[in-house]
Amino acid sequence: TSAVEVNQVSHIYVNEHGAKLALEQIQLSVKTGEFVSLVGPSGCGKTTLLSIIAGLIAPSEGSVRLFGQPVTGPTPRVGYMLQQDYLFPWRSIRENIMIGLELMGQKTAEKREYALHLLDEMGLSAHAGSYPRELSGGMRQRVALVRTLATEPDVLFLDEPFSALDFQTKLQLENLIYETLRKHRKTSLLVTHDIAEAIAMSDRVIILAPNPGTVYKEVDIPSSLA
Ligand code: ADP
Ligand code: ADP
Repeated sequence: TSAVEVNQVSHIYVNEHGAKLALEQIQLSVKTGEFVSLVGPSGCGKTTLLSIIAGLIAPSEGSVRLFGQPVTGPTPRVGYMLQQDYLFPWRSIRENIMIGLELMGQKTAEKREYALHLLDEMGLSAHAGSYPRELSGGMRQRVALVRTLATEPDVLFLDEPFSALDFQTKLQLENLIYETLRKHRKTSLLVTHDIAEAIAMSDRVIILAPNPGTVYKEVDIPSSLA
């Protein structure tokens, strides 16, 4: 079954300046366990599309299903990794991760142990007692990923998670996240304007045309390349 199904979605923003067509008849799907990237220039509607799939905005037209269920609002089945890490500065790394579990009502002994295991897997165990300001940007992004993976979302949305990092850190983090998400067979949807990043990370790349965004082309990435 499909993890994500987007059916003929169009979206128009209306405000005091008028109406703006952001997305036009988007049709796409993501299979369970698949890693798909959405690539397109700034302003083509990538963030709008992710927000619609996540149930944060209702599309002007069309519909979205997550694991066969119509999306009518936000759901805990979706986890996020964003450009900013949104860590609490006055809490330790361990506390930041436990807050993620608490917000989801999942702060069981088992989940706490799983979270610490993920922290170890991401090479962050030694920093569990540190504060976000003591960590580099790449490390903080790893913490943000642990925080969301610990809640075991069924699908992960990554919205330009590498764009604030320097080139070396970006490559290292891409590799680590690639390995981690493959290992956990996590269904993932990455939004990026960087085609090289999309090819390196994905099973399939969906290219969006500039504003208004629509699916221009879909490219399967052979595993020998990925
Ligand atoms: P990006 O996702 O490309 O980093 P944003 O989503 O913040 O950037 O904004 C993209 C463009 O959308 C901006 O140039 C801005 O003009 C427009 N925009 C964002 N939010 C609003 C809003 N609330 N009202 C009108 N225009 C907006
Ligand atoms: P991307 O993430 O690909 O940069 P966005 O989804 O942020 O694109 O924006 C798509 C288009 O919709 C842009 O032209 C932007 O200016 C416009 N837009 C985004 N958010 C708003 C908003 N809240 N109100 C009005 N226009 C918006």
